[in-house]
Amino acid sequence: MELVEGTVIRAHGGHYYVQTDDGLVADCALRGRLKRTRARSDLVATGDRVRWRPTQPGCGVIEEVLPRKSALSRASGLEGTREEVIVANLDQVVVVFAVHKPPFDPFMLDRYLVACEAAGLPAVIVINKVDLLSSEDEREAMELYRRIGYRLLYTSALTGEGVEALRIALRGKVSALTGPSGVGKSCLLNALWPQLNLEVGEISAFHQRGKHTTVVAQLLAPEPGTYVADTPGLRQFHLWNVDPRRLASLFPEMAPYRGQCRFSPCTHRHEPDCAVRRAVEEGEIAETRYESYCRLYEAGS
Ligand code: GDP
Ligand code: ZN
Repeated sequence: MELVEGTVIRAHGGHYYVQTDDGLVADCALRGRLKRTRARSDLVATGDRVRWRPTQPGCGVIEEVLPRKSALSRASGLEGTREEVIVANLDQVVVVFAVHKPPFDPFMLDRYLVACEAAGLPAVIVINKVDLLSSEDEREAMELYRRIGYRLLYTSALTGEGVEALRIALRGKVSALTGPSGVGKSCLLNALWPQLNLEVGEISAFHQRGKHTTVVAQLLAPEPGTYVADTPGLRQFHLWNVDPRRLASLFPEMAPYRGQCRFSPCTHRHEPDCAVRRAVEEGEIAETRYESYCRLYEAGS
């Protein structure tokens, strides 16, 4: 039989569920000789592209794991000597917040964005519950992110506004969907793909499972070639405590001021003649973003 290419959407107890590009899922085992090749990382992880050989209907054997483009992982094992892959080949992180209920919290959004920047993953910001927007002025706190350069979508799982734009943003990619609980992640996925039939709150419930359970993601595969990781717990990705010396590089709007301060290095907090602080005073950098920078700096130092 010829080898078939597909994506691992779930791994559990030696079974690898591989979705082929035509949408079928096969329960695959791993070829024995593959098992010895990678000692320091997971041999096969959710999100890996593999080639497998069908054995009987619905079953097969993985013969080859294609090179990973990227891996979102964490250190595990003794002294962190092994790499535990949470999801391989992630293209982007979709960060969902709400206009209200829960209230829009720019500092929390900035923490998610910094985590994405630290992981080198593009972030797409989705502001859901746009049906609750009471005035155009309220948009300003969110439009800020578009000016910084982030992709920003407004959606309502209730009215359907923006849902098609979100579908287009997800199509053909491997995305992680994240954000605080209650913002409407499950409802958005159901609005996009009713056949998923997720319970309201389901995505967040996954988020809150104890910290000792595995963080390895499963992929929802609602359309051929489109994958959504159901682990929104960026919190669990252990990216929160970023080295303060690196922090400014994770705020894209601070990039133009690099090397412009009187002191080098400059923490951009108390030093005289600081180009970043001057940019904040002149309104070139938003005060809320600068405050996020200071809060994260203090948390990490
Ligand atoms: P999750 O925790 O992020 O998965 O959030 P859920 O999808 O469970 O939704 C939380 C609550 O927000 C539910 O009561 C939904 O009915 C409500 N909700 C979700 N999307 C919208 C929306 O676009 N507009 C409004 N007004 N309510 C929404
Ligand atoms: Zn400075």
